[in-house]
Amino acid sequence: MIYLQKKKQKKVLKYEKEGKAMNLLYKSTRNADKTVTASEAILKGLADDGGLFVPVAVPKLDVTMDELKSMSYQETAYEVMKKFLTDFTEEELKHCINSAYDSKFDTEVIAPLVKVGDTYHLELFHGATIAFKDMALSILPHLMITSARKNQVKNDIVILTATSGDTGKAALAGFADVPGTKIIVFYPKGGVSRVQELQMVTQKGENTSVVAIHGNFDHAQSGVKALFEDKELEKELAAKGYQFSSANSINIGRLVPQVVYYVYAYAKLLENEEIQAGEEINVTVPTGNFGNILAAYYAKQMGVPIAKLICASNENKVLFDFFQTGVYNRNREFVLTSSPSMDILISSNLERLIYTIAGQDAEKDTELMNELKEKGVYEITPEMKEKLADFRGGYATEAETAEMIHDTYKKTGYVMDTHTAVAAYVCKKYREESKDTKKCLVASTASPYKFARSVMTAIDPAYDAMDEFQLIDELHKVSGFPIPNAIEEIRDAEIRHTTECDADKMKETVKKILGV
Ligand SMILES: *Cc1c(COP(=O)(O)O)cnc(C)c1O
Repeated sequence: MIYLQKKKQKKVLKYEKEGKAMNLLYKSTRNADKTVTASEAILKGLADDGGLFVPVAVPKLDVTMDELKSMSYQETAYEVMKKFLTDFTEEELKHCINSAYDSKFDTEVIAPLVKVGDTYHLELFHGATIAFKDMALSILPHLMITSARKNQVKNDIVILTATSGDTGKAALAGFADVPGTKIIVFYPKGGVSRVQELQMVTQKGENTSVVAIHGNFDHAQSGVKALFEDKELEKELAAKGYQFSSANSINIGRLVPQVVYYVYAYAKLLENEEIQAGEEINVTVPTGNFGNILAAYYAKQMGVPIAKLICASNENKVLFDFFQTGVYNRNREFVLTSSPSMDILISSNLERLIYTIAGQDAEKDTELMNELKEKGVYEITPEMKEKLADFRGGYATEAETAEMIHDTYKKTGYVMDTHTAVAAYVCKKYREESKDTKKCLVASTASPYKFARSVMTAIDPAYDAMDEFQLIDELHKVSGFPIPNAIEEIRDAEIRHTTECDADKMKETVKKILGV
């Protein structure tokens, strides 16, 4: 394996005046008429009609790849985000960017690119909680506070979050002790790794709450969405000076920062002369809620030369089946896998793609989403399916995922986590079957330390006899990767959160936490 970027002095962005751009507005996927500004969309999270906010058009980059080549992560972030968040001033946006992408990351390049065999891994796990969720959740609190100020919001903002394991901790870390906010996280009891659970239940901060629900991620996410749509609860909250928002990838403020690293990765491949100017690459993304791969799709629409978007699933392969057949069917067994952050049967962000391929038809989108809600299944039209030509679906079984970790380690010495292994396997299989020889970028979404048991037993089943922290020390020996702070922090930390509830009692639990 070869690390492609040399460490470079991080450039702090300077504030310079420039002409005011045209305002980009956002619409709900379920309402054709109403538009909101970016800051309003960030504050609300989910639209009142239950739809997701989407930009009326994906903006184009107005800098060339040649210019982007030499830019730092922070500078690239500004070039991308200013096109989406047009009601933020330059000073506001640069302040958010510089406050997010700083020494919380353990590398100055923020998102290192590593060549492993013939594949490029974009390591998105160098932030505070060692999963890719940090890429967006380290900036979301700043975007949220700025949005609240711009819109004269006086209420405290209550962030409600459902997590399949990684969003929870990243959101808690981002919002802990942020004045004017409270955060409540719901995770599926028994559905996350030991490290993920310890990270959440030991979270400090007076404004943080963590609740284990008796159910899976889909229950947690549907429960949170129902709370957002509860008009009566909204009134009760307002009377107490609260309003809800979301830190899930249904929030456009999560999605926009994720577009940045695809632009950055392409520019770095170019800078390192791994690709030629204009050369198309394929991107493989380990997928759960469809946020990360949707960001890659937006990057493509902004002008990054991406050919295929390869959507990798674990054994919960609803999306694979969808790309094969055009039928989305969540009526199936929910499988607990070694890549728990992808154990999802209702991928929320797919709605944004459905809306786009329906020709931004809010009525059609609403019809399909209602079918999903009522029957658990919908089918897109042949015309819509044609517009999915850039997408491919693939999946890896538990055995294939373990084999990928094992074989890559034996061949190259590189140790990857289970989610990344799902994507790496799907990428390899796609290449063999399609004979497509384009270079391939794999989104590497978590540190192997977060899933130490699954990773180590893939390397050698005998490791299963060890306890979690012994495994972590062994992982350090075999990989040579330094043990991240995020792991050291939880070794002896006090458990602060022990609340549990049934999936149908989320509303009562929230009211109790907030005292309403
Ligand atoms: C959240 C997560 C994913 C899935 O990302 P989506 O944006 O939900 O598709 C994959 N891998 C890891 C490690 C994650 O935390």
